[in-house]
Amino acid sequence: MTLKLPRTPSFRLDGRTALVVGASSGIGQAAAVALAQAGAQVVLAARSIDRLELTVATLKELGLEASALALDVGDVEAMEARLSSLPAFDILVNSAGLARHGPALETTFADFDAVASINLRGAYFLTRSVARRLIEAGKPGSLINISSQMAHVGGIDRAVYSATKHAVEGFTKSMAIEWGGYGIRVNTICPTFIRTPLAEQTFSNPERVRWIEEKIKLGRIGELEDIMGPVTFLASDASAMITGTALMVDGGWTAG
Ligand code: NAP
Repeated sequence: MTLKLPRTPSFRLDGRTALVVGASSGIGQAAAVALAQAGAQVVLAARSIDRLELTVATLKELGLEASALALDVGDVEAMEARLSSLPAFDILVNSAGLARHGPALETTFADFDAVASINLRGAYFLTRSVARRLIEAGKPGSLINISSQMAHVGGIDRAVYSATKHAVEGFTKSMAIEWGGYGIRVNTICPTFIRTPLAEQTFSNPERVRWIEEKIKLGRIGELEDIMGPVTFLASDASAMITGTALMVDGGWTAG
């Protein structure tokens, strides 16, 4: 007698299209590589078209499918118009982000608006633009925002940054509820500190580096590779029942 055993769902993304915003650097670039390696056709987007094209050329040399798209999430109207002219993407990874850290007592109106404009307003309308096209096309999808561990805890000098990331968690849950019936999943990935241009200011301060090393229970700073598996998982059918939630990639920071 043979048993009918369950089959592990596929982590592969062959035949899927993915938009990765913030793909010119850091976590977004790593996410684009991960999705392309899993078989997706990836569109890499950001403002710096030269950096995107260099990554695209390298991916193509590896036999992977990729193209570049100039996109500014700070100009939500132009962004919506551009995305409404493109076919629906099965997968979105939004890694566009900005940090202007400093004491809350000294936050300027300009810094508040700049960070909120990219991390919250841009992320919100980008997620909505991609969902809209999916709904028009009658297709399911997986939408992922790169949030932060600072979406779940506070941090010194991080009142504005942390506020915008907490807000991303809020719209993620609400959108997941609204779009579940269309088969559109909405989730976040919440990384701990990773050495990228965005985190340079923090890593240049020895006091902050001691804070980071003390808080990450696994005893090391995050690497770009730590995000690549979680991105592939959330994009794929392996996470088919996961929506409206946050995947912590924080080495245990928020556990204690
Ligand atoms: P990064 O290397 O500085 O990359 C930021 C990306 O955002 C770049 O590709 C940049 O591209 C893009 N971007 C910024 N403004 C944009 C705009 N107006 N329109 C389109 N793209 C824009 O930073 P990262 O560390 O990879 O950060 C990626 C995400 O991870 C951010 O949301 C950040 O908050 C989050 N995160 C980072 C860490 C960390 O420790 N590094 C930890 C937790 C969460 P262009 O300049 O070419 O437009």
